[in-house]
Amino acid sequence: MDDSTLVTQVDVAVVGGGPIGLCFANALSRQGVSSMLIDRQPRSAMVEPGSDGREIALTRASRQILDKLDVWPRVEPAERARMRGAKVFDGQSLFAMQIAPDAAKDEPLGCLVPNQAIRRSAYAALQAATPGQGETLWRDEHEIARFQAGDEAVDIVLDSGERIHASLLVAADSRFSTTRRAMGIPVHTYQHGQHMLVCRMHHDEPHDQTAWEWFGHGQTLALLPVDTHCSSVVLTLSPAEMEKQLALSVEAFNRDITQRFGGRLGSMRRVAEPHRYPLVSVYAERFVGPRQALIGDAAVGMHPVTAHGFNLGLQGLSRLADLIGAARAQGQDIASPSLLRRYQREQRLATAPLFAATLAIVGLYTDDRVPAKLLRKAVLRAGAAAWPVKRLIAGHLMRSSD
Ligand SMILES: Cc1cc2nc3c(=O)[nH]c(=O)nc-3n(C[C@H](O)[C@H](O)[C@H](O)COP(=O)(O)OP(=O)(O)OC[C@H]3O[C@@H](n4cnc5c(N)ncnc54)[C@H](O)[C@@H]3O)c2cc1C
Repeated sequence: MDDSTLVTQVDVAVVGGGPIGLCFANALSRQGVSSMLIDRQPRSAMVEPGSDGREIALTRASRQILDKLDVWPRVEPAERARMRGAKVFDGQSLFAMQIAPDAAKDEPLGCLVPNQAIRRSAYAALQAATPGQGETLWRDEHEIARFQAGDEAVDIVLDSGERIHASLLVAADSRFSTTRRAMGIPVHTYQHGQHMLVCRMHHDEPHDQTAWEWFGHGQTLALLPVDTHCSSVVLTLSPAEMEKQLALSVEAFNRDITQRFGGRLGSMRRVAEPHRYPLVSVYAERFVGPRQALIGDAAVGMHPVTAHGFNLGLQGLSRLADLIGAARAQGQDIASPSLLRRYQREQRLATAPLFAATLAIVGLYTDDRVPAKLLRKAVLRAGAAAWPVKRLIAGHLMRSSD
């Protein structure tokens, strides 16, 4: 590489200033570790992010991590919706499997927060870092041109030509991560062949702070409670059906969604623009390489149906930041092979079972062939009594980080 230009020294270079990259830089800063955040977006898009329609169901453990990072206090109380329980319906049957928290504890099953609010609060918390904490440098509207990992450090060149010398390069640039590809890390990709639409809607009847998941013929519907008479509607369809759905006038769209929900919430009206997501799950074959690591969706991009992607990403970034902080405190290399191997081992143990269970649920509930329908009914009936996966969902949502 050319030695004529100035080199910026930093402990960790992070590609991607999404919610995971922002929280990771924050966690490093609290450990006295400096970082550089590189994102292709302008900084204005992080200060006041626009709505992306996602309502994130946060586990109790995630709220604890966000609290430690000073992100949670910045989420307005009006932006936090308590989820008291969840119901899973199959087809036209009125039977529903109910998921509820432990009645003895006065705790909601989960808490829903718009992704936009998480991103805004994560950026604000990072900006408010106090003196003595590790510095965070910004390179917005930039990408990495190339990098080379050596024994002592990784040398990075940005698209501007600027050179960075870091101990560790971390990819947090989404499930479609180009940094992961440049690291040569293969990924297992699952194309689900469906698109998901998310859209806030008002409805005449209250939803009782309960989330609904409804598996019908050729479609999956969900309802995430926001306000008493407002929910986020989630509709999964084939790409062709989704095209038709998005081409509807607002009035026709409202009529159509009211009908899809069987009028259970009365008349429904759209109050925000719908957003569409092609459904692709990814699981990286490795989470680390020489002086390289993957976090967030770049490591594990979950199908949203079980609402775990961000929650697992938060666990992973705190795991890696804690290992780095401990190494720094002991004067050791913050990106040693043994440290990175430990991060990979623990994060794979934490994510692989949920990733596999989510794929199984997606397979079971999007298959409209007769055997799958019968199995679905059996699972729901058995689940109403004592379904282990039901306990897994409720248990995961309510688990603490300690
Ligand atoms: C509809 C929907 C609902 C969801 N609901 C839930 C839920 O209820 N609970 C839950 O836990 N999770 C949920 N998720 C998942 C959650 O949104 C993701 O796990 C989370 O956003 C991942 O954050 P991230 O920072 O890793 O990636 P992203 O949010 O994708 O951010 C990536 C960042 O990297 C930047 N970037 C990309 N490429 C480059 C590049 N080459 N160079 C520089 N910068 C780059 C982008 O600009 C962006 O800022 C949901 C997802 C969807 C789609």
